[in-house]
Parts: sequence; structure tokens; C-alpha cells
Amino acid sequence: MRYPQTFIDDLKRQADIVRVIQDYVQLKKKGANWMACCPFHKEKTPSFSVSPAKEIFYCFGCHKGGSVFNFVMEMERVSFPEAIKLVAEKSGVALPKLVDDSRFEARRQESDQVIELNKWALEWWEQQLESSLEGKIARDYLKGREITDETRRTFRLGYALDSWDALSIYLRQKGATQEQIEKSGLVVKKDEGGSYDRFRGRLIFPVMDIQGRPIAFGGRTLKGEDAKYINSPETATYVKGRNLFGLNLTRDEIRRNGFAILVEGFLDLIVPYQFGIRNVAASLGTALTSDQVRLLGRFARKVVVNYDGDPAGVQAAKKAIEILLAEDIEVKVLVLPDNSDPDEFLRKFGVAEYTLQRGDAQPHIQFVIDQAVRDRKLSNPADKEAAIDEVLPYIRAVSSRIQKREYFDIAMDSLRVGDVALRRELWLSLRTGMRQSAQVAPSTNRFQIKPTQTEERLLKLLFSDAELRRIVMPRLELEDYQGLLTESIFRALSEIEAEGKDLTDIKEKTEGDEIASDLLPMLFLWQSSFSDPGNFERRVLLAEGCLDGLRKIRIDSRIDALKEELSAAVEIGDTERYSALYSEQIELLQRRKKLMLRAEELRYVGESVQLKF
Ligand SMILES: [Zn+2]
Repeated sequence: MRYPQTFIDDLKRQADIVRVIQDYVQLKKKGANWMACCPFHKEKTPSFSVSPAKEIFYCFGCHKGGSVFNFVMEMERVSFPEAIKLVAEKSGVALPKLVDDSRFEARRQESDQVIELNKWALEWWEQQLESSLEGKIARDYLKGREITDETRRTFRLGYALDSWDALSIYLRQKGATQEQIEKSGLVVKKDEGGSYDRFRGRLIFPVMDIQGRPIAFGGRTLKGEDAKYINSPETATYVKGRNLFGLNLTRDEIRRNGFAILVEGFLDLIVPYQFGIRNVAASLGTALTSDQVRLLGRFARKVVVNYDGDPAGVQAAKKAIEILLAEDIEVKVLVLPDNSDPDEFLRKFGVAEYTLQRGDAQPHIQFVIDQAVRDRKLSNPADKEAAIDEVLPYIRAVSSRIQKREYFDIAMDSLRVGDVALRRELWLSLRTGMRQSAQVAPSTNRFQIKPTQTEERLLKLLFSDAELRRIVMPRLELEDYQGLLTESIFRALSEIEAEGKDLTDIKEKTEGDEIASDLLPMLFLWQSSFSDPGNFERRVLLAEGCLDGLRKIRIDSRIDALKEELSAAVEIGDTERYSALYSEQIELLQRRKKLMLRAEELRYVGESVQLKF
């Protein structure tokens, strides 16, 4: 299996080497680089360094080094194609179908050409803004917005002369052909042939990719025309909804803060940046897309949505929430007083006031509820039903079961749904719409007709290897598999292990159990076809991961049950029982968190083993 070289190069550029390596080692920023204790040799002072600019890692102790792919190969002990696959998954980049390499290459060349022309155009526009006579109108506009020269240079703002061909002439002088100019999107083609400059008499905001290369432009009118902003069309380089404005400058700050502030417009990002608020990204007018969220998610898993407070902004924010939740991002919403946008608000009230407001950002569910009850009377049944219908999708979209339940309870209380039967019905309606990725059904689910993937994987591992059974079975406790669909098989396995009997005896021990008679042939078949056992320690780790998975399923369903018991205890005023249940809940949440952390550690090990199944 081979991936096209061009794809590999692109992936290397797109994958954030710091983020990928950070999944394995704790990196600390030091100047332009990131440092850590080396994962490949034992040491107490860090000599392992990662350079995001050069896209390489290097250890001054053991001299291991290379690209992000070399790192993953070394760490996961996988082949080059497998490393590519892992890196692509971690970076949210789709793997290409292994087709026609030459077409990919041609497109790539065209894309490089567009970037080259964009660079020329941008340099020219920057010059016009800096010093041309006509550029004064743009310089005055920026002054009015209190944007400093330093900020202007940081964001590489420019000014496009009010001319039909000034840029085209400049590009031709630089050596561009008419065909290249037309493909760049910098001009508009005329029906009768020829073209004219797309951006005329406008302040230019360049959109950079994550490496800081200009891939598209937005142009703001300075004359009060109808089109306040015009943008580059899609080109070989630029696909709408794939990039976030400013991220090339703000990614490290976003990572450091652990969250990103998501805004809409160019100035909503540039002004906060100038004020020192630098963990910001801008979605740029078009509705937020999953691609954008996945890109942002590489730097932080929490997002504060800070769109305009006007009706259009609120609609856009609600759409954004849905997209963010679907990608497992924790969302808060910041609505500034008097419907201000971040740009206005900061210039008026300053950074301290903004930070205060941001600290008070609402959890997404509260924002959604507020919007749903606005202009509705909850005492009116029809209004109430409409409000519930409006809110539920935003709870359904949450994939964490615990958070989902919490949001659900908040929503039911806020919408004054007191009736227990109705609440249960609504809760069930959410569960049935649960996303596929939350495949772990609770073990007590009576409607479950297939074993969970975790059970099945663990059984496969146990069947594959007697040595592995000897290590793993003693760690398996009765309550780990009690209530599972495959309970009888696990029980029989543990008896066989304790009695030192042969695996074939399992048929006798599970006689009469329907599930076992269904599954055992598959397991034995699988055992006999299992020829490449792979690395033993890894399979043990994988088995432990499954075991953790089973425990997590159990904990989740107990946590679910506890919620109802807790509210029952509140209703009858049994404080003693309440505090007992409450501490149980805390303990379970802590255990769950530990399991999740371990699972995260084991995941990649698991994935590399899975390939061999
Ligand atoms: Zn080393």
C-alpha cells in the first residue's frame, strides 16, 4: 500500500507535530521549540526537542530524530504506512483513495502556483497600504479603529488600489501568465475574454493557512458600497470552510489556554489580539463547518463562542454550537451586553471588562434555553412544547453520557418539566437518538441483542492465547462481567482457568446458553485463523484496555441510576441517604476519570494492534 508522496508532504505540513507528540510526552515550550524528557531513552533533564517550524523532533541525548511519521513509527512500532494512517487520524485529515497519483500532483502544482501569486499580490498590497498616496484612506480607516502599525504588520493587512488592472499589471511584470492570473482568483474573468482586478479600493485581510501562507483574501470596502466585504473564490488552494482566520498566529496561545474564543469577523479577532487576547480564531462569515472545528480541536477541546448579539449572530451561534458538540467540543457562549461585537466592546470597555464577561460565559445549554424561552410563555402548553423541541437537539448532540444527563436535568428544570413520567420519556427519546460513536450500551440493557465491541474484543484476545489468559483472567472480577450478555462465557473461562482445564471444555460449561452457542463457533474459528499474534505485551495492554472499558460501562450505568436515586432522596428529604449517594457518585466519577485517562494512553497501542486482527 502506498500513499502519494504529495499527500504525505501535505499531511506532514498539516499535521501539527507538537500536538501529535504531546499525546505521548508532556512538552513544555522553550523559545521557538518544545522540550521534554525523551521517551526513547531514560533521562532526568529534558534533551528531547520538537521544532514546529521545522516540523521535526530531535533528541540531543540519544540522537533520535525525524519527522512526525518517524516519531509515530518509533513510538508505536508501526510501519510507515501505518504511521501515516495514525497521523492522518490524529489530525482529522481524510486519507486519499489510492488513485491516480498524477492528477493529485497536477492539482498540487496548481495550488503552489496560486500561493505564489497570492504572495506577490499581498506584498504589493502591503506596500500600497504602507506608503501609497491613495492608501491614506485605508490608513485613516485603521487609525479610526485604533489599529496600530504593529498589528497591521502582524496581520499583513494591505490596500488594493481603486483600479481595474493595477494588480494584474504588477503580476505580469513579476512573470505570471494570463492563465495563472485567472486561476488565482485574484481577477474576475470577463465573458468577452480578459479579466479585471477583483479587489479594488479595498482594505485587504489575508487568510493564511496554518503555516502562514496566504491562501485567500477578504476585502473591505472603504466607500460604503453594498458589498461591505468581498472574498476570494475557491481555487486550487482555497476551499471554503477549511480554514480559520488568525489560527496561524494564535494556535500556541490557544493550546496554552486550553480553550479558544471563536469569533466571526476579521476585526473581531484582530482587535482582541492587539489587546493581548490571543487565544482567538475567526470563522469568517460563512457558517462554521466540521472541518473548521476539527482543525480547531487540534489545539483545544473547549470553545467559547463569541458571535454578535444580533438575531443573525444568535442564529449563527446556535448553528456553531451544534457543529462543535458533534465534534465533542465543550462549548460556552458569550453574549456581550447591548449586542456588541468583540471589536466594539473591547475598544469601548477595555480588556479587563471583556475578560470579566468571558469568565461569565454561559454553558451552551443555558444559552440555548434562554433563546428557546425568549418570547414564549412556559405556562402555555404549546409554547412549552415548542421550547422543549427547540432545546432537545442540543442535548442529544452531547456525546458524554454524564454531561448529557446534567444538561438534560438543567433543561428540564429550566423549562419546568416536573412530571416524572414525561421527563423519563424525553430522556429515553434522547437515548435512542444516541450517536453511533457512543457504542457502549449499558450492560443492564435488556434490549441489547449483540455483545458490545469491548466484550467481543476481549473474548477474542482471551481465546487467542493461553498465556494471555493466565495473566488477564485473575484480574477479571465477577462484577466485571456480571450482567453482560456474554456473562456465561466469561464465567466458564474463569472456571477453566481456575481448574486448569482445556479451553475446549467451555462448550460443556456453557451448555444451554443461547448467546454462548451463537458466539463460540465464531470465537473458535477466529482462534484457529489467528496466525500473527504480534507483540505480546501490547496484546496484554489491549486486553487491559477492554477490561477498563467493561468497568467504565458498569460505572456509567451506575452513575445514571444514581442520578435518579439522588433526586428521589431530595424529594423525600432524606439527607443522610443523599449524602451517601453523593459520595458514591463522586467516587465513581473519579474512578471513571482514571479509566478515561488510562484509555487515552492505551488507545494508540490498541489501534496499532487492531490492525493485526
Ligand atoms: Zn533520547
